[in-house]
Amino acid sequence: MVESFARKSDERKMKTDIAETGHLRSLLSKVGESLDQFVKFEHPDAFQTKQQWLNKLDISLPQKGIGLEAVTEELCMSVIPNGSPVGNPGFSSFITTGATTASTLATTAASIASPQRYLGTAFNFLEELSLQWMAEMFDIAHMKGVYSSGGSVANLIALGGARQYAFEKVGCDPAADGVDRASSIYASKECHHTIQRSGGVLGIGRRAIKPIECDQQGRMKIDALLAAIEKDQQAGILPIAIVANAGTTNTGAIDPLLEIGKIANDKGIWFHVDGAYGLPGILDERIKSLYQGLQYADSVIVDPHKWLGASVGVAATFVRDRDYLLRAFTQEPADYLEGSASQSEIDQLGADQIDTPSAKIEHSLDDFGIPYFDYGVELSAPCRGVVVWAMLKEIGVEGMRARVIRHNDMAQYISDFAHQHPNLEVLSEPTLSICCFRYIDSSIKGLDLFNQRLHRRLVRENQFMPSTTKVNGKLALRPCFVGARHEQFQVDGLLESIIKIGSELIQEMKH
Ligand SMILES: *Cc1c(COP(=O)(O)O)cnc(C)c1O
Repeated sequence: MVESFARKSDERKMKTDIAETGHLRSLLSKVGESLDQFVKFEHPDAFQTKQQWLNKLDISLPQKGIGLEAVTEELCMSVIPNGSPVGNPGFSSFITTGATTASTLATTAASIASPQRYLGTAFNFLEELSLQWMAEMFDIAHMKGVYSSGGSVANLIALGGARQYAFEKVGCDPAADGVDRASSIYASKECHHTIQRSGGVLGIGRRAIKPIECDQQGRMKIDALLAAIEKDQQAGILPIAIVANAGTTNTGAIDPLLEIGKIANDKGIWFHVDGAYGLPGILDERIKSLYQGLQYADSVIVDPHKWLGASVGVAATFVRDRDYLLRAFTQEPADYLEGSASQSEIDQLGADQIDTPSAKIEHSLDDFGIPYFDYGVELSAPCRGVVVWAMLKEIGVEGMRARVIRHNDMAQYISDFAHQHPNLEVLSEPTLSICCFRYIDSSIKGLDLFNQRLHRRLVRENQFMPSTTKVNGKLALRPCFVGARHEQFQVDGLLESIIKIGSELIQEMKH
């Protein structure tokens, strides 16, 4: 029997349709070497011109495979070196960043050792443990979480819970029966547009999101919020949620959470806090008080793939009561899932009859574990908890705090520098790790266009890559520091480059 098994496995090796086993160590080390080279970012935007790598990659559907070694080779030679600048320490556009090494290792491990987040595995256990760790770290320890792919889905899940709560109060089950009356979600004009999309997906409509005016600092105006709620109340429109930002994407503004939270609480309206970017700011003691009001939240989201340095695809929604999510997102029972992993029910059926020793040994298939697949919109999903667990094990809360403070200091440094420099103007004082400012000079006619040009040239130099945005109608340069690999010399370099390019452009205008 042993012999025939050995022969079978020899035959198997000849077949290309059976996945190979046993080469991960050598192949991963090749990929690792290529990635180590990549994260030095010593190269231009891509190693090769776009035409060069396109020529290699843009081929027709392969009928015959080239084998694993050759695929690894192409991955290392043609794909990785022509990847994205998002992880570059000089990159400060958007609010995305490169994965830290701990996160990369955990993501890779999960893809092999636990390709699903359910069942009674160590990975499923870390899913819940890491959610609890984050809740504790962010002062919302009374809340329970669920992971999803990003802030977009995390907001959708939170607002699905809000919709369930609001409609159940008037005797409807919106998830089962649909929605048949007008409703509103109140969110500031600076809110992320995934809030509007959530309205669309949840069947209450994008237009049900009522945009509330902000002050000059981009924070929701309380009187405008109260007026909007009042107006809807008179029209008999059902309030679903008030959404507040703990760090807007544009400028990092934090809405007056305490006041908004109290209003939501008084009126019995679900209070959602979008902290996709800014929730980790609570670790910085200097601004911690801005987060007062979180205690009123019914739901809070955070994107570990932003400030915490997780590989992309990791967001978390926290809620007071996961049962709302369960009722909002449960699938109807499916035969192929029901009963396929439920030892406890079998045990109850005939505990006296089954008396073999093996019945006492636990198997990971005995139990689905916590049914995250019923708390959101994904069934098959990667394990993300292990990523957050690995990052927190690596540097602890203290490490995360130091990183957040370092990034906030960088934004403040830019603001201080700009205030003192005759050619720089701060357009929005930093609250978190974003500073919005621009280049000015009395000889410049159109400042918006000038700063746009300056930005283009800056980005093309490939050293420092902030984004731009509009602040109170003015075009701003907008560095946002969330990358675990940013260092102070990149901040100095950014400022030097902006001043240099600004004066060059002025010289060019004169000729
Ligand atoms: C980034 C962001 C989102 C969307 O998150 P994704 O992970 O990109 O889907 C939502 N809200 C805020 C405030 C954000 O900054």
